Amino acid sequence: MNKAAINYLLSFLAGVAVTFGFVFLSGSLHRWESVRTSSGPDEIIWALAPIILPLLIIGMLGGALLSHYWNDVSAFANGFLPKGSRTSSQLAATPATQKLRGNSEVNAVRDELERQLGRLIVLIAGQLEHSKDHVASLRDTNVHLASVTNVSELREVVHALIIKNEKNESQTRDLETRLKEAQDQTASLRLRLSQAEKLASLDPLTSVANRRRFEQFIAAEVARSHENGTPLCLIMTDIDHFKNVNDRHGHSAGDRVLKAFADLLSKSVRGADLVARYGGEEFAVVLPQTPMGDAFGIAERIRSIFALHGGTRESSVKELGNLTASFGVAEIRDGEPPSALIQRADQMLYEAKNSGRNRTMIWSTSSESAST
Ligand code: GH3
Ligand code: MG
Ligand code: MG
Repeated sequence: MNKAAINYLLSFLAGVAVTFGFVFLSGSLHRWESVRTSSGPDEIIWALAPIILPLLIIGMLGGALLSHYWNDVSAFANGFLPKGSRTSSQLAATPATQKLRGNSEVNAVRDELERQLGRLIVLIAGQLEHSKDHVASLRDTNVHLASVTNVSELREVVHALIIKNEKNESQTRDLETRLKEAQDQTASLRLRLSQAEKLASLDPLTSVANRRRFEQFIAAEVARSHENGTPLCLIMTDIDHFKNVNDRHGHSAGDRVLKAFADLLSKSVRGADLVARYGGEEFAVVLPQTPMGDAFGIAERIRSIFALHGGTRESSVKELGNLTASFGVAEIRDGEPPSALIQRADQMLYEAKNSGRNRTMIWSTSSESAST
């Protein structure tokens, strides 16, 4: 029985049950009226049985129907949810799950590339084997040639040679075609891999780098800075009272603010820098080859632009009113690991929050004495 037939049957049974339910209900209410005043518990139970039984059947069928049509029902119910609230299926598409999906695509393409490599190896090994056979058969012909005594024998040898060569040629052509196909497939797999890797390193909401990419990037850049003795700064920034935006205007307004802030950060830095969503409404900006004075200037510029209507032309963000963010900046020290740099920049962000928000605090010698 197919799905549509089951649907119709269930609907039909539900209809029958509802009709009988009403018939029994009205009959038993009638009886109930007559026994209510008169007598004992037995009679009352018998009077109630016809009510309970159909209700039970209706409940069971209703349950079956609800589970069958659950997707439609939940889609319908979503239409009544207040703007900004999320259903479980929407919540399922959170950055964490999307990141997993991104990674699984990377793994799938990597597996496919490995299989492709395996096929290429088999192809090349086959051709090598074939070439060895061909060389051996040419050697045989050469030996045979030495024993040739007349023209007709010579003709035979030459004829066999031509056939062998033609066969070899066609096999080589076949291999060329298959190699070309394998090359094309590998190229398209490589492209897919780089796209999947890019996707797996981005935050799906704001399209800036995600935490995983941030950690890779800062580790590489800090190592480079130690190696070359070049400066490097880290800005940690967090939107002020962001919870209020969600509470007053809904989650989707909050999401728009996050996007606007991420766009502003991305627009304010160079190509060699990295903007990443560190978590929630906290972002990190890695500035290689940048001394503290410049990093402070960048943070302050972003801060003042964001305080001006969220730094965007988008009216749905501008109309939200006062938006500000706090900033903490630290510069890498000799031999310092990335974790310590992050911790110092974070500490400055914390200081900025504690001293009233909407400000930039930089790590200096005094912060050092304050923290010890
Ligand atoms: P503070 O000035 O001290 O940073 O206060 P705050 O309200 O910004 O910080 P708090 O940590 O109290 O609240 C952060 C809020 O950010 C709570 C959380 O629901 C919200 N949030 C985190 N991620 C997202 C997201 O992806 N979208 C939206 N709309 N809100 C988010
Ligand atoms: Mg905040
Ligand atoms: Mg925060």
